[in-house]
Amino acid sequence: MTEISLTLPSGEQKTIPAGTTVAEALKELVSNKERKQTIAARLDDRLVDLSAPIDADAAFAPITVDSPEALEILRHSAAHVMAEAVLALFGKDVQVAIGPAIADGFYYDFDRAEPFTPDDLARIEEKMQELIALAAPFSRETMSSAQAIALFEKSGQPYKVELLNDLGAETVSLYRQGDFVDLCRGPHLPHAGWLKAVKVIKLAGAYWRGDEKNQMLQRIYGTAFFDPKDLKAYLLQIEEAKKRDHRKLGKELELFAVSDQVGPGLILWQPKGALLRKIIEDHWREEHYKNGYELLFTPHIARRDMWKTSGHLDFYGENMFSAMEIEEVSYQLKPMNCPFHIAIYNTRKRSYREFPLRWCELGTVYRFEKTGALHGLMRVRGFTQDDAHIFCRPDHLEEEIFNILDLNLHILKTFGFESYEVYLSTRPEKSVGSDEHWDQATAALKLALEKKGLAYAIDPGEGVFYGPKIDIKIKDVLGRSWQCSTIQVDFNLPERFEMSYTGEDGKEHQPIMIHRALMGSLERFIGVLIEHYAGAFPVWLAPAQARIMNITDAQSAYAEEVYAELRRAGVRVEKDLRNEKLNYKIREAQMQKIPYMLIIGDKEVEARQVTVRLRNGDNLPAMSISEFAALIAGENEAGRTGACNS
Ligand SMILES: [Zn+2]
Ligand SMILES: [Zn+2]
Repeated sequence: MTEISLTLPSGEQKTIPAGTTVAEALKELVSNKERKQTIAARLDDRLVDLSAPIDADAAFAPITVDSPEALEILRHSAAHVMAEAVLALFGKDVQVAIGPAIADGFYYDFDRAEPFTPDDLARIEEKMQELIALAAPFSRETMSSAQAIALFEKSGQPYKVELLNDLGAETVSLYRQGDFVDLCRGPHLPHAGWLKAVKVIKLAGAYWRGDEKNQMLQRIYGTAFFDPKDLKAYLLQIEEAKKRDHRKLGKELELFAVSDQVGPGLILWQPKGALLRKIIEDHWREEHYKNGYELLFTPHIARRDMWKTSGHLDFYGENMFSAMEIEEVSYQLKPMNCPFHIAIYNTRKRSYREFPLRWCELGTVYRFEKTGALHGLMRVRGFTQDDAHIFCRPDHLEEEIFNILDLNLHILKTFGFESYEVYLSTRPEKSVGSDEHWDQATAALKLALEKKGLAYAIDPGEGVFYGPKIDIKIKDVLGRSWQCSTIQVDFNLPERFEMSYTGEDGKEHQPIMIHRALMGSLERFIGVLIEHYAGAFPVWLAPAQARIMNITDAQSAYAEEVYAELRRAGVRVEKDLRNEKLNYKIREAQMQKIPYMLIIGDKEVEARQVTVRLRNGDNLPAMSISEFAALIAGENEAGRTGACNS
């Protein structure tokens, strides 16, 4: 018998007879305890089932329930069981499409004339539990593509036939558990009994292969975990996320609205939302000015010709609103601010002595998004980018990127975000610019990240065609990641717009351009903020910092006095002097998540004080109006500098 050699993760080499299955090999290679936790294995770069034979020398690693790959295998297996359950319940009028694992779970797409109901989902989950109790093994079969096509034609599964035809492979693998057979690469769990924590979550529509010209299918989402405790925690998190949904809170707290009359994806900022936005904008502008940026304002439309020069019409046309005619010239709503900043650059000759130029703008742009893709503040048709462009020489790049990162992380910290995922995207196959420029810019981005002490992952080939970039995702209080900041080097636009500067050598050179947004868009960032804080903003951000309430009409005059004085002192204050019970007023202020309630009774009038109640129900000792104004000023300062978040 031929012997083959396996290299274990420890580096140790072991020999086993060729053809030994993974399961048999595990008995020799790992402890019993580890073996019982193993669901699959990695042979070199390939994930395989426990039943797979090992035919050649390879690096061998068991995939245990704790391995990063394990959850995907579990969830993909759960998708198969869901399809099995749906076919068992709804029989022959259902066709199955595809069922992958996704970030939070899995789904399977079904073609069925009748829509599934919430009751159906409950039945499907019940059926899945029955099937899981049978613990049927997932068994792998390989056959010729022609045989597989015949099999799926016979069982009336045209989507599988289409997939097989497109795949055009000679041989394919199928997985069978119970009565269900699926076209699949695998690997899978050894048997369905591993599915100890499975939940059917929701139903949605999805086009076959994501193409709206195709049949609309019914997508059932589910999730699965190895440990029921993890499933419970996940479901709690979904509940929590629902409570924090910025669309729900935006309505309750009267922050923003969308009106059918105005149009979908166009945000109307109500007074409180507008105030919140103003506070964020002021903070943003101040921080930029302090850090050597100049502020710009540019128009919302420009000649269509400019968008030809910029290349947007060619590369970005489908995301742009249609043109409009003014005096027989075509104009276009802006999807980006960059060409306007370049136009300002090109208003006169530039010298290296002015560099680096740091120009920023809260620039409102318009992009076409399908109605179905719109989502509250997160996905809209008109939004304000917190944009900036830096024009500099190649040798400025590293320092400028470092400074951007510094300002970026500082601003994010002031908003309460201190946990990030950072990605560096390198040159894609289709790209402009010389190798030298790409190498230099990529090295500068890396150095700046390292100098800033930021751990990052490299996304090979995921850069934009015009230059490498850094993306930063922030983590919110529920641990969800949100794409937020982006820093992009651009070799393309300076070329297209023939930008130049006079260098030290007296000759003309092309500047480097950096595009950069910290928050991404104000709309989306505020959406994330609402969910992160569940609407209970820190004092420096809260649109209403305090609400005054009297106990009876007898204190109205003094309450008005307090109101006027606090407004003059710069406190964002409201008043509730209605003839209602105090408890009722307090409850309403709490629902509005207002940080401070200032309660005024006869005692307070006499002492010329206010009693201060916090939104969590605690009370502070009574204080004078100026003492309260000083308290708020202190909170504002702590918030703006990020001191309260360190
Ligand atoms: Zn599969
Ligand atoms: Zn730009």
